[in-house]
Order: sequence, then structure tokens, then C-alpha cells
Amino acid sequence: MSKEKFELKLNNPLPQGVADALRTQVEKALSFLPDSGSGESGKPFIRLRIDGENAGKGYRIMRENAEKAVSIVGSDAASLVRGVYAFIEKFCGVRKYTYAPAVRQKEPPALPDIIDEKYEPFFEYTETDWLSPHSTEYSFFNGLNGTRYRKLPDEYGGSVGYISGFAHTFTNEFCSAKKYFKSNPEYFALRGIRRVRSQLCLTNPDVYGIVRQEVFDLLQKKHNPGAKLQIISLTQNDNLFYCTCENCRRADRKYGSHAGTVLEFVNRIADEVGAAGYDNVAIDTFAYRYTRRPPEGIKARDNVIVRLCTIECCFSHTIDDESCGANADFCKDLLTWSEICKRIYIWDYCTNFCNYTGIFPDFGTLQRNMQFFYESGVKGVYEEGNFQMEAECEFGELRAFLISKLMQNPYCDFNALRDDFCRSYYGGGAQYICRFLDIITENAAHRHLSIYEPMTSTLTLSREQIELCDSLWQEAKSRTRLAEHEHVLASEICWRWWKYKNRVSEFASPFTLRKQAELLKKDIAGLGVTRLSESTPFRAFFISMAHSHRTHAKTESVIKMLYRR
Ligand SMILES: [Zn+2]
Ligand SMILES: [Zn+2]
Repeated sequence: MSKEKFELKLNNPLPQGVADALRTQVEKALSFLPDSGSGESGKPFIRLRIDGENAGKGYRIMRENAEKAVSIVGSDAASLVRGVYAFIEKFCGVRKYTYAPAVRQKEPPALPDIIDEKYEPFFEYTETDWLSPHSTEYSFFNGLNGTRYRKLPDEYGGSVGYISGFAHTFTNEFCSAKKYFKSNPEYFALRGIRRVRSQLCLTNPDVYGIVRQEVFDLLQKKHNPGAKLQIISLTQNDNLFYCTCENCRRADRKYGSHAGTVLEFVNRIADEVGAAGYDNVAIDTFAYRYTRRPPEGIKARDNVIVRLCTIECCFSHTIDDESCGANADFCKDLLTWSEICKRIYIWDYCTNFCNYTGIFPDFGTLQRNMQFFYESGVKGVYEEGNFQMEAECEFGELRAFLISKLMQNPYCDFNALRDDFCRSYYGGGAQYICRFLDIITENAAHRHLSIYEPMTSTLTLSREQIELCDSLWQEAKSRTRLAEHEHVLASEICWRWWKYKNRVSEFASPFTLRKQAELLKKDIAGLGVTRLSESTPFRAFFISMAHSHRTHAKTESVIKMLYRR
């Protein structure tokens, strides 16, 4: 098909941006498309349409025969955009692996004469961290729709997201301690004989009144009637200081869980928000740490989201692995929550928060967990990774890509996607890195893995296995150049960090340890990594390494800690 004959026919008014995106990508790919006829009227080749009946809740890509145009139908603008990008990916051979420009496959598939592809989203909300998910184009290609890093334009169907803060909003955004603690300490949690400013007393009627008013003020400012879903988060702070006043204790006892007291509060707000006609707004709360256990005798309203967090879980075993104690407990809670809440979102974790640069071997559980979430009726997923990431390290980009694809479809061909990504990202080094990933994934399955796991218990590798892994990284480096070589070096940091923490290989000898450690530090800083963990001291340390020596004295103690075994 020649470029001159190509034309988009838009059957109803469509966002210009959608049409432009499709046109640009299809034009890029035209030279690879076979001469495929020109449609009934001579010219049109691809039609875009919004049609709820034909597309279910998602999109449908159709072509009846070689003479006919391709039709992409979406149930709404967001679904149509997904359909457009699915077409570009699958039938034009274009991939968006990272924030770098999309890649055209060398040999894209021939455009089939007959196409009928249907898709319905598995989750209404999808979000993850790392670097590339910040890119809007990446989000379109790989199906991310949360608002943490992107604001998808309304004409593209918009984002699904939080118009309040994302998390831990009590005492910060709602009934702020800054504003009320001094004058009204009774609004805050009673611990022993004192009130503490970092949690609320949710049975205090004045607290309800304040939060309610602040929710309605927020709606007045930020409500968008055209949005698909807007969320207001009413969530406990990140500590265990729940209120122990008499009323709160009574409510906790009544529901058999602190979650009951929170849910009663949130349900009341949700009822008022619903009654005021905010049909596209949901109120979100946590089932996190002390509120994880499901309450008895209360159900979440339909417009309430409960975000259940996997923070206590093990990540080398799947969530539904009954032989793993931490996961079996979580699994029970999830299934009970799903009986009392129609809108569970999962807040899941996919990095080591004490060792951002260290190996986190969870690749063997990502797919089954996502399937299990879906099968348990979960409606949204946030995969919290290295949200402070400023430069690639560990397998951040690979992980972001795989997680995004799993949220798009938990039943995708995971290994094929992994290999495909690695071929593009690591070039000639791909097969060695995939082999390394297989070794650590298999090894990790023999023990539990928390998100704070020390490197000394993350893997147990024999001397032979360590030598094998060393040789795999050497091969990967020797077979790559330019950007692909840089990617190998960045990912290799996680292996070097593991070896350093375990004092093996080049870090085994006490005579050269310091020199090797200096080299590792220099390479990490050289990549632009500014944090080794979620906590701040290492950040100060790396800033001092990379930019100046001004803070050196201050961070000396941290450096010592880093070097101490
Ligand atoms: Zn209380
Ligand atoms: Zn386990």
C-alpha cells in the first residue's frame, strides 16, 4: 500500500490527538505493510469509532477481508486509545519498551486479511513507579492510567486518579495536625495518657464534621463531571498509633478490627458524597498494617475503595502459596475483604526498600500474583517500586515494562515479553541476562523474601553459581555497545551490590575490599543514583559523592555504617 492511498476515516468526532497518534505511527510502519487493498471507497484504510455495543467495555479491532478497511472500535475514548495503541503494537510492529523513542521491529508481522481482536480491561486503575511510567506515550502503549505520574488529556479518555493526596492523608491533608493539634488535641489519637498528632480520633464527631467539610471543599475545587473516576483518599498515617480512647476501643471491639472504625467513618462520608450527586467519585481508604484484618458486621459502600496492602507479604512465593505463612494470612484477608467490598485495589510492592540497588528476585511471582488479584475480584493495582528512582539500577525498566503488561493482561506470555524486552534493551547481552534472571529466580524460591530483606539472605548461591553469574555478566558486557552496554552496566550494579554485601568474588579479599567498594560507589554515583534505600541518609551520602564534599563530614558516620559488615 502506498502512502498516498492511506487515509483515516473517522466515523464520529474523535479527539484529534488520537487520530494524529494513529496516523503518525501507521505512516511510520507503512513501508512494512503489505499492499492490502484500499477499502470499499478506494481510499479509507482505517476507521475509528466509539460504539459501546460493539466494543463491550473495551475495544475491538476488525477487518473482514483483504479488501476491507481495518476498524478500531472503543466503548469510550479511553478504550479507543487503547485499541489504537494495541493496533500499532501488534499489527505495525511498534514497541514502547522505555521512555526512549518507540522501536519498530525489524520484521513486523504482515497485516492479516481477517482480524477480530477483542479486549476488555482487567483493572479499572493501573499504576506503577520506576522511570518510564512517567512517560505519557509509554502509558498509552502499556496501559497505565493512574495519576501519580501523568495526566492523560480528557480527549484521550483521561486518567483515573486521586484528586486528594495519594496516601496517608489523615492529619496531613484532612483535619491537619498543623491547624488543629494545638487547639484541639482531642481530635487526635490517644496513646497512653497523651494525644499524638500523627493519627486521628475517628469517633470524635467534630473530626467527622471537619473531614466532611474538607472533602466537599475539595470536590468544589477539583471535581470534573467528565472524568471517568475521581478518587479522594481518606487514609491513616504511616505508623501504628491508632486511637485508644474509650469510644474508638469500643468501635474496634464491635467490628473485631480497627478497620471497622475507619470503614464506618469512610462509609458515612461516601454516603454523603453519593447523595450529593457525585456519581463519578469514590472515597478510598486503606487496609494496611493495623487495619488489614477485615472487619465483621460492616460492608464497604459501592463508592468506597479499600486499598489492601501487601507490605507484610513474601515476594519469592506467590500470594496464593499456602505453604508460605505470611502469604497465607494475606490471602485469607483478601478473600474476606472481597466479600465485604466490591472495589478492592491492591497496593503491592516490587523492590527492596532497604537496598534499591540490590537484587529483588520476585520475577517468579509477578504473573501469578496479578492473576490472583484479578481472580479475587480486585479492581485496581498499584505496584510500588522504587518511586524515588532517578536513574536506572537493578532491573527497574524491565520490571516496569513487565508489570505494566501484566496489569494490561495478567494472562499474557510473560516469558516472551521478558525476552522481547531484553533483546531490545540489552541487545547482544540479552541471553546472558535472561540466564542470570533464571538463576536468581530459581534460587529465590527456596526462601522467603520481604521488601526489607538483607542482601545476605536474599539469595544463597554456591561458589560455582557465583562464578557462573560473573561469567554471564562478563559475556553480556563483551557483546554490547553504546546504550545497550550502558544498560548492562546499570543492571549489573545489583549483582555487584549483592556480592559486596555478601563479601564474595572481587569483594572477598580484605586487602582489596576497600578499593573494590570505592569502585562500586563511584559507578553507582556515576549512574546518577542518589539513593540506596528509601531512607534519606544515603541520599546525603551520594549527593556528597557526586557533587561536592561539603556534606562529607556530616555523612562520615553513614559511610562508616555502609562499610561495616
Ligand atoms: Zn478515639
Ligand atoms: Zn514465602
